[in-house]
Parts: sequence; structure tokens; C-alpha cells
Amino acid sequence: MDVLAEQFDVVIIGAGAAGMMAAIEAGKRGRRVAVLDHAKAPGEKIRISGGGRCNFTNIHASPKNFLSVNPHFCKSALARYTPHDFISLVDRYTIAWHEKTLGQLFCDDTAKDIIRMLLTEMKEVRAVLRLGAQIQTVDKTVSGFRVVTVDGAIDCSSLIVASGGKSIPKMGATGLAYKIAEQFGLPLVETRPALVPLTLDPAQLENLSTLAGVAVDAQVRCGKTAFEEAVLITHRGLSGPAILQISSYWREGGDIRLNLLPHVDIAALLRAARKDNGRQALQTALAEPLPKRLAQFFAEAAGMSNRPLADLSDKAIDAFCLTIKDWTITPAGSEGYRTAEVTLGGVDTRVLDSRTMQARDVPGLYFIGECVDVTGWLGGYNFQWAWASGFSAGQAA
Ligand SMILES: Cc1cc2nc3c(=O)[nH]c(=O)nc-3n(C[C@H](O)[C@H](O)[C@H](O)COP(=O)(O)OP(=O)(O)OC[C@H]3O[C@@H](n4cnc5c(N)ncnc54)[C@H](O)[C@@H]3O)c2cc1C
Repeated sequence: MDVLAEQFDVVIIGAGAAGMMAAIEAGKRGRRVAVLDHAKAPGEKIRISGGGRCNFTNIHASPKNFLSVNPHFCKSALARYTPHDFISLVDRYTIAWHEKTLGQLFCDDTAKDIIRMLLTEMKEVRAVLRLGAQIQTVDKTVSGFRVVTVDGAIDCSSLIVASGGKSIPKMGATGLAYKIAEQFGLPLVETRPALVPLTLDPAQLENLSTLAGVAVDAQVRCGKTAFEEAVLITHRGLSGPAILQISSYWREGGDIRLNLLPHVDIAALLRAARKDNGRQALQTALAEPLPKRLAQFFAEAAGMSNRPLADLSDKAIDAFCLTIKDWTITPAGSEGYRTAEVTLGGVDTRVLDSRTMQARDVPGLYFIGECVDVTGWLGGYNFQWAWASGFSAGQAA
């Protein structure tokens, strides 16, 4: 052991949601903890999350809300630290919250309340936070690990890697966790941007140019997976919660299929409108359940603009309705890590212990949070994974 190296029991790389939770739990066990982060402030993603109000958990969180090559992996951690555990913590700090929709819990006031709460908890257990820490090397020692930063070396018996994924590099995402995993011979599941807007090619954009800014509640399907939430057509392509959700399942070259009226029997509605008033134009009848611009777009695309309903046979109505119920789009790509809320893939869970997050073949080395190949749906699930995996590692490291 080098006399010049500082000594801690646990070093955590990354003062994000997962790293801070792990620090609190390890600290409660009397472990001397140092959290290193190269950023100027901790929890920057918490600060900007949920439009500044942090969708900090989802009361319905269960393993089915997560993507992973190994879908069973997340079960243990999610069962050991549940949304109710985090809610209890939030309530203890009298942080007011509300359910927005679909079990998504947000702060009433500001996401900064969550950061302040975590920092207070860290302080209580005397966890040391080092910001602006530029990590140079990470190495195995006889008794643990040595982390060398520009400011010096730290020795520890447990090293928890909580440095997040690749999303939003502008906010300090570096992919360091993947480098550390590779250095220790741990496999990675290929990473890709997820919860991200999808882009369209210039011809598609030109075709949809009249629809930029239109929002509609729709069912969006990719293969066997479907989400029903808002879709927003933008000047770059498709966005909105339903598109972000499906982006985690979509692959280049594949289609997504939109049902713009999942709960309306539009064919029956048009037939009834034809009976009531055959002179009514198709897009006028269509504008009742759909935004006006979409109604016009579909009527024009079918070459039926201003056609009176009386002109349309049942067969023509059925064929037309299919274009609305099964609008098939092949996105050109996604906006990438620049705007992706999370990174899919990461450290392969098959080499981690699901109870502790420890690498089975590298005792003392743990991976938690977004850098692990566990990715949640949109709606507070990713923070729940960060809390739960951080808790599990903090209990063991
Ligand atoms: C715009 C946006 C909004 C979001 N909103 C929500 C939401 O409302 N609800 C939800 O559940 N999820 C949301 N997410 C996802 C959520 O923020 C992440 O899943 C979560 O922050 C992951 O936590 P983490 O601790 O694993 O990683 P991070 O929060 O990314 O923390 C990693 C930390 O490691 C540090 N770090 C990185 N590289 C290095 C390095 N080389 N050296 C030292 N330190 C390093 C970073 O500075 C950072 O502080 C959102 C994401 C984005 C981008």
C-alpha cells in the first residue's frame, strides 16, 4: 500500500442518481465512502429531468418495464428497493409530489429538492463528494482498487462504477464505465441511443411538412410492442412520449406503425356521417375525431380531398380508414445520443450478481445505474433502476 494514496472503503465513480444512492447506503453501513465526479455539480441529470420536476419513480415499476438481454436480472434489485421505499424517503424530506399520469411521480416544485435530499443523506453518513475529479486510471491492487485522479491516488476495497451511459455528452456523459468494464475483461451489450426522437428523410419531411407541430394521442407499434401516448410531428421527424418509448425497440430499416384512432371505429363513424349528410366532405367528417391538419393530410394523400362522403363506397371507406389505423412509417434514424434520454445496452448483466451488482469474476467491482444493460421505459422507470441498483450495491460494497 502506498502511503501517498488516500484510503477509503468504497470509491464511487459518478455522483448521479445511482452513485449517490449507493453512497448513502454504503455510508449507513459505516463504510468510508468517496464519490468522484468530473462534473462541477452532482446529479445534473436529476436537475434537468422531467422538465425540471424530476419524474423520480413510477408506482407501477416492475421488471416488464425494462429492456435487457437478460430480462430477469433487474428483478432482485427492483424487489429490494421499491418505488414505495423512494417515496418514503421523499416524504421524510416533506418534498411535495404528484402523480402526473400512468403512475409517473413528479416533484411539485423542483428536481433540485431531490438532489438536496440525496446530498443531505450523503452528508449524514459522512460520504465525501469530490467534484471536478478527472479520473486518469483505475487499477486492481492486492487488496482492492486504486483510482488515480489528477489530484492524487485513492485506494479502496470496493469500487462502484456509476458513471452513466453515453446520452447527452454535453452534460458530461463519457462512457467511462464501458472502458472500465473492458479493462477488466467484462463483456458489453452493444449500446445505442434510446428514448429518443426518430428522424425522417428529406422526402418524408417534405411530405409531412404541413403537419409540423401536430400532436395526437396514438398507438405506436414496433413488432409486438405497442405504446399508447402522445405523438408529436416535428420539423425533424417524430417525437412525443409514444415515439420515445418505441424508439427503444426500433432498429434501423424497420417500420413503426401508428394507429391514430385506436379507440374509434372510424369506418363506422364515416358511414354514419355519410348517411346523415352525404354532401359533407371527407376531411370535414374526419376532423371530428382527428386534428384538422391530419384530417386534411389523409384526405389529400388518398386523393379524396373535398370528396363528398356520398361518393365513397363502403370498400373505399374501409381502405381509407386503414391508412389512419395502420399508418406505416420507416424512420431514417434517430436524433442519437445528443438528445437520447438513456443508453440502451451496456455492461452485460450475465457477468454481474443480480443481488449486489458485483462483477462475479472481479470481487469488489460493481456497476450500477444506466451503464448496466438494464434500460427502463419512459416515465420514472430509469430513476427507479438507478435507486434500486444503487441501493443493492450500497448494501454490499
Ligand atoms: C433530459 C433527460 C430527462 C430525463 N428525465 C428522466 C425522468 O424524468 N425520469 C427518469 O426516470 N429518468 C429520466 N432520465 C434518465 C435518467 O436521467 C437516467 O436514467 C439516470 O440519470 C441514470 O442515472 P446514473 O446515476 O446511472 O447516471 P447519471 O445520472 O448519468 O450520472 C452519471 C454521473 O457520472 C459522471 N461521470 C460520467 N463520466 C465520468 C468520468 N469520466 N469521470 C467522472 N465522472 C463521470 C457524470 O458527470 C454524472 O454525474 C432523463 C434523462 C435525460 C437526459
